[in-house]
Amino acid sequence: MSTLLIRNATVLTFTSETPVLKNHAVLIEGKKIKKIAPDAEFKDYKGKEINAHGRIVMPGYINAHMHYYSTMVRGLGKAEPASTFIGVLENLWWRLDKKLTIEDSYYSALIPMIDAVKNGTTTIIDHHASPFHITGSLDAIAKAGKEVGLRNCLCYEVSDRDGQKIADEGMTENENFILRCEKENDDMLRGLYGLHASFTVSDADLERAADFVKKHNSGFHVHTAEAASDEEACEKEHGCRVVERFYDKGVLGKKTICPHCVHINEHEMDLLAETDTMVVTNPQSNLNNAVGIANLVKMAGKGILIGLGTDAMTVNMREELRCGLWAQKYGRQDPACGFMELASTVAFNNTKICDRLWEGMGIGTLKEGGVADVIILDYLAPTPLDDTTWLGHLIFGFASVPVDTTIVAGKILMENKELKLDIDVEQAYARSAELAEKLWDRF
Ligand SMILES: [Zn+2]
Repeated sequence: MSTLLIRNATVLTFTSETPVLKNHAVLIEGKKIKKIAPDAEFKDYKGKEINAHGRIVMPGYINAHMHYYSTMVRGLGKAEPASTFIGVLENLWWRLDKKLTIEDSYYSALIPMIDAVKNGTTTIIDHHASPFHITGSLDAIAKAGKEVGLRNCLCYEVSDRDGQKIADEGMTENENFILRCEKENDDMLRGLYGLHASFTVSDADLERAADFVKKHNSGFHVHTAEAASDEEACEKEHGCRVVERFYDKGVLGKKTICPHCVHINEHEMDLLAETDTMVVTNPQSNLNNAVGIANLVKMAGKGILIGLGTDAMTVNMREELRCGLWAQKYGRQDPACGFMELASTVAFNNTKICDRLWEGMGIGTLKEGGVADVIILDYLAPTPLDDTTWLGHLIFGFASVPVDTTIVAGKILMENKELKLDIDVEQAYARSAELAEKLWDRF
């Protein structure tokens, strides 16, 4: 079995017992971490090694809510500016996703995955839409994931906005993909049942989906109260709040992810806490769409597990983390609020989210016997870095330094800032640009 020793490291384990280990080395054997110990214990090691020169060695970042399919929108100037969230969906996203082919979906995923390697993001939980080319779209994204070498949890967003036939095809795509994941039991791949949002999914569809999810011990990935309009539509059509509707229909639970939750009330928070449902906050997207700022302090106070995602604004979790803190402070007009809530998303909670989807494989931590998803950050601490200060470095320091090395499941995907992928990266970007041009013509 292949081995790799990362020497002379300042190891951040992302565990609460021993968060910071100085002058340590991490021994990787095959796909797992074999040993973490003081550097001196590896004197006799012979094999491939990387000298971290005292820099940070830590788990790869996890992006808990992403949309690969948005890649080809960069620079697209054809969408009318919108003054409401629904307008943003109608003028841009719901026009774009209708035009995506399977090849577009594949390259839309491949490009941000390459960027993720450069940014040290090693696990991504994605939410996909391509309503006129649904069947096989998740397999195409999974293929890109396998080629790049990242861990992915995929789903297709069911929506009745294009009619029942397309909603049915979306449900079948989710169901087939969850069955595929069950059958293959590949550590790199998981599936959830995707739904767009309460306001585009009928009761009958929720019932079919909930029935499948219950039988397969799976969970949902569904936008929740992202804008006030989602709550307004639910009250008007169903006479209840969004989270109340999800509670009644069996959508909530330990394996369900509810991104956003910007407009939920206290009773909805209580239902999320009672069902141990996961919330993922996406601050850059919420600011960009001007939908509001989620009350993370209140949700965390109720014991809700809150992770961090980017909603396709970036694959750089360091950037998202900092922005999330600024948003909480500004939103509450309180410069003292939000630090622990935000730091915990990346330091602990995204890990717990992965534990529920990948059954305790240790994704998001560095520990012996756990998966070897490891990055080296080009960061030498200019102030004391220890068990009491590391979260400050995580938020305020790491955002401005490059990732040096990215390893997933023991495989080096980037070393010394040089990509080591099995794909032709330049060809991938060139093909993406060609496809984007054609997509823009159809838009
Ligand atoms: Zn989203």
